[in-house]
Amino acid sequence: MSASVVVVGGGITGLTAAYRLTKELPDATVTLIEADDRLGGKIRSSTFAGVDGVDEAADAFLTRVPEAMALAAELGLGDRLTSPAAGSASVWWHGMHSIPEGLMLGVPTDLRKLARSKLLTWPGKLRAALEPILPATGVGADSVGKLIRKRFGKQVHERLVDPLVGSIYAADTDHFSLDGVPQILDLASKNRSLLIGGRRMRAKSAAVTGPIFATPIAGMAALTDALADALRAAGVDLRTGATVTSIVRADHGWSVLIEGDDAPLAADAIVLATPAGTTAPLVAGISPEASRSLATFHHAGVVMVTLAVPADEWPVELQGYSGYLVPKPVQRWVTAVSFASSKWPHWQPRPESARPLIVLRISLGRDGRDLTDRSDDELLAAAVGEVSDHLGIVLHPVEHRVVRWPMAFPQYRPGHAARVAAIEEALSADAPGVVVAGASYHGIGIPACIRQGNLAARVLAGLVGSVRS
Ligand SMILES: Cc1cc2nc3c(=O)[nH]c(=O)nc-3n(C[C@H](O)[C@H](O)[C@H](O)COP(=O)(O)OP(=O)(O)OC[C@H]3O[C@@H](n4cnc5c(N)ncnc54)[C@H](O)[C@@H]3O)c2cc1C
Repeated sequence: MSASVVVVGGGITGLTAAYRLTKELPDATVTLIEADDRLGGKIRSSTFAGVDGVDEAADAFLTRVPEAMALAAELGLGDRLTSPAAGSASVWWHGMHSIPEGLMLGVPTDLRKLARSKLLTWPGKLRAALEPILPATGVGADSVGKLIRKRFGKQVHERLVDPLVGSIYAADTDHFSLDGVPQILDLASKNRSLLIGGRRMRAKSAAVTGPIFATPIAGMAALTDALADALRAAGVDLRTGATVTSIVRADHGWSVLIEGDDAPLAADAIVLATPAGTTAPLVAGISPEASRSLATFHHAGVVMVTLAVPADEWPVELQGYSGYLVPKPVQRWVTAVSFASSKWPHWQPRPESARPLIVLRISLGRDGRDLTDRSDDELLAAAVGEVSDHLGIVLHPVEHRVVRWPMAFPQYRPGHAARVAAIEEALSADAPGVVVAGASYHGIGIPACIRQGNLAARVLAGLVGSVRS
């Protein structure tokens, strides 16, 4: 009899895990169960203002963490990728300031370039300049905010690192573990001075050519759609609109209980590719220790407001800019704005239409400021009002879209890696053959989720293979 593997969760992690299982265990019966009526999880693209494939959430993946590029190529999307147009980003701090050159996720690596920026005051720049002579700080406190303030002072933290890292992960960096930002963790673990170490790292990475980000031209959902197509072709049973309520021990393996289904699904092995908070109750009966720890995870909700504004109202001086970030001390609801039509060449205004439009993507809310329960009207008014204030113009959107992402970003609290290791250990002792994977554990970005999906499949293939042989 062939092995039976169930994947719970049809986001990028679960889809990748199922796909890899079809390769690693070609004879196994693979079933993927997704609560929503669509696959893709936090990846979704749709037509907006006449432009196809405008992303409702993630719009790019890192190319230098290779898993997303590799998967795209494997799925036949390799020649259907594009990269952001070169354009500089800014920070709004009582006016627009170009982000100084020579930063690594906001961490300065070049004092001369930092000195030229008016984003920091002279006392702020002088404090940052002390960094190379400070004794080692260590990474024990495990808070991005604490580390950066200690090394570079308050201004580098509040005006550079917190807005940059915070906008990627909807995080409050004072409560965000270094495990969530491997580049900064690596820098701080290997070097006394982050500035000097960062400069060395940048010099090395300058040798690597090619764009840093990529995305499918048809929108990020092209990746999850291609995975779903490959799974259908491989005969995977894809069940949408089916919510798993718990996993229980069976005589041989596990039973997966699905809401509304009388007959549980039998499984030799299970990948739980669901957010930690959702995973906690699923494993309560089979690994109480893992479940308790999973239940303590925090997740931040965000809102994405997309606007189409007439191109002739767009200030000429903003052309060539890709967007801006809003640091916490001057933040209301808006945390970041992407001038999406400038960033993505294929979302350019259409000159042939009667009145060309440009697309803006505006992020609202973060850890500590969840706005997902606000009405569309409130969110739209905040987005239009705040961005108009920042840019010193009055935006007149002709189309808009408000998308809520509750529990969007897992918040890696200090001690994250140890917590995840303990969860994995408890699960492997209590429930061999049941593994967790996804954004809550070993990296939030799409390449890290793909890596975890691949790994979960390989671990289970090894386990199931050895039991069956
Ligand atoms: C607004 C936004 C912008 C982002 N931008 C970027 C970006 O530009 N680049 C980047 O790399 N990353 C970005 N990310 C992060 C990245 O998209 C996510 O971390 C990643 O997609 C998460 O994938 P996942 O499969 O781990 O989880 P999810 O996508 O959350 O998938 C989990 C799935 O499990 C399902 N599920 C939950 N409970 C159950 C249950 N009981 N039974 C069955 N199914 C269940 C859910 O419905 C969901 O579909 C962004 C995220 C957001 C929200």
